[in-house]
Amino acid sequence: MNATNAENRAEKLNIDPGEVSKFEQLANRWWDRNSEFRPLHDINPLRTNYIDQRSPLAEKKVLDVGCGGGILCESMAQRGAVVNGIDAGETPLTVARLHSLESGVSIVYRQITAEELADTEAEQYDIVTCLEMLEHVPDPSSVIRSCARLCKPGGDIYFSTINRNPKSYAFAIIGAEYFLKLLPKGTHEYSKFIRPSELSAWARSAGLESRNMTGMTYNPITRQYKLSQDDVSVNYIMHFRKV
Ligand code: SAH
Repeated sequence: MNATNAENRAEKLNIDPGEVSKFEQLANRWWDRNSEFRPLHDINPLRTNYIDQRSPLAEKKVLDVGCGGGILCESMAQRGAVVNGIDAGETPLTVARLHSLESGVSIVYRQITAEELADTEAEQYDIVTCLEMLEHVPDPSSVIRSCARLCKPGGDIYFSTINRNPKSYAFAIIGAEYFLKLLPKGTHEYSKFIRPSELSAWARSAGLESRNMTGMTYNPITRQYKLSQDDVSVNYIMHFRKV
């Protein structure tokens, strides 16, 4: 494929090739808890519990969109869900497949976007999760619409991302990338952060009903994350139901 065709394809598929290649390059460290992926490992038990409490995972057919190396997929499979993971990148999926063999969990991983999959697997999933991914795509509303199409009526959808305000700029970019060096510089772009009001409006127009919103706060002294009902100023997760 020549460069122009690749660009056209990426645009049509709602992929930012620069973003995908960032994750491709880091992918071999995905399961190293002391790497750039430490924050994802740290928040994973919190978000898995949040999802499992609101939509019990056992026996459910789950799709994880933008699954990367499979941190969330594995923890949902360990709770008895039948998990499919999709990602635009190739290397994160290679890492995810190898790691699932080591962990002894069975997960189907595919390199495809939510938009493409929605054409063939509409209304197939009880639960759709799309965490820490919307802030890396050109058009997040298109991903939200596709997740809504993929979910069965009455099913549950979870999105998490980063809020956009001066505090989130200070914490998620200056704090995490420059000061605490939790993430490589350039991991996040402020203008791609999403306010809960924007996410809710996109979800509403995709036929989703908002059920809950919870913050994930980071304490740099104890180096611990916590779920917080009232502080959604930086990281947050939202639960929707397809009506
Ligand atoms: N959801 C995972 C990984 C988050 S990192 C977790 O929270 O643990 C963001 C992931 O989104 C990367 O693996 C990246 O390759 C993927 N991604 C970026 N753009 C995408 C797109 N358009 N479609 C699917 N995956 C995408």
